[in-house]
Amino acid sequence: MKTAQIICLFSGGLDSILAAKLLEQQGLSVHCVHFVSPFFGQARTVPHWRNIYNLSIDCVDVGEEFVAMLRRRPTYGFGKELNPCVDCKILLASRARELMSYYGASCIATGEVLGQRPMSQRRDTLNVIKRDALLKGTLLRPLSALHMEPTEAELSGLVDRSRLLGISGRGRKDQLALAQAMGITEIPSPAGGCRLTEKENASRYWRVLTSLPQPTASDFYFANTGRQYWRTIAGQECWLAIGRNQYDNLALEAFATPENMSFKVADFSGPLAVARQWQAWPAEAVREAAAFAASFSPRAVKSGQLVRVLVSTGGQQSELNVLPCRDAAWGNEPWEAARAAIRAEQKERQHAAPANKAYKNAEF
Ligand code: SF4
Repeated sequence: MKTAQIICLFSGGLDSILAAKLLEQQGLSVHCVHFVSPFFGQARTVPHWRNIYNLSIDCVDVGEEFVAMLRRRPTYGFGKELNPCVDCKILLASRARELMSYYGASCIATGEVLGQRPMSQRRDTLNVIKRDALLKGTLLRPLSALHMEPTEAELSGLVDRSRLLGISGRGRKDQLALAQAMGITEIPSPAGGCRLTEKENASRYWRVLTSLPQPTASDFYFANTGRQYWRTIAGQECWLAIGRNQYDNLALEAFATPENMSFKVADFSGPLAVARQWQAWPAEAVREAAAFAASFSPRAVKSGQLVRVLVSTGGQQSELNVLPCRDAAWGNEPWEAARAAIRAEQKERQHAAPANKAYKNAEF
């Protein structure tokens, strides 16, 4: 088992690298945790990070907890797209707190910088995160520590406060200078890398969140894969994903559940299409999906004839003869429509239970 005095939340961004290194420079043992979910995280890059930054880093999957938070909706609401940044930070900090006893750590550190982001790194928000994650006194922000009250780790002398920093604001000048002084040559780009902040993905996720009775992390991984299509047929919402390449086809197979239905053209090459069913599709929808899936096989389309499509579900296979048809009714909700629905729902919830009440009642 690994032990560490401090657990550092490690996103892979420059600030989290600097926070961990700054503490290590004091001779402290730091263990980094990199959280992954369908929306953020780069599990495959962790070995590379370990290597180039010489840090101890583990991956922790928070997908199911994160999706549960989205299902019940974030207390502090969504940002510009579908990003619940304040609730996200509370969730990750809470998860890190749960890991403290495992690693024997007495303090959690993050790379947050006061005033860097409009929503989640304001002073009052940073305090709300600390309070709601039950980390009062144990959440250290080494890059902005001099703007904040000392933590228990500083008061006890574990961490030398005089070697912490007072960075604030949106610029990256100080961080880049620090990286240079530390000899860090691979500087990650400032882009967030969170899919919840990307309009197209946010629109996809909103549909999943509002259509499925109990969406899980696996549903959102599925939503990340291949071309995505929705259509209402005979009053039922139908969700279909079509692979763009072999990698997508394998991923769709991996995420498919026994209830899902797959479509594959029998006599020509073509992609795999998978229907994400949460209730049985009407026969009309199955036929429409088979014709649509076949339209992604150029040779099947070129044949100009009925083609055989193999339909599999729950280990049972059947066959349909269909004319390939790229019906435009299969599509996606535009972001503007999703955004309007998100805003309307948020307004209603705020009316019922204002989130800033939680800010007002905060005991910092
Ligand atoms: S941008 Fe995404 S990962 Fe970052 S705090 Fe917001 S929700 Fe969390």
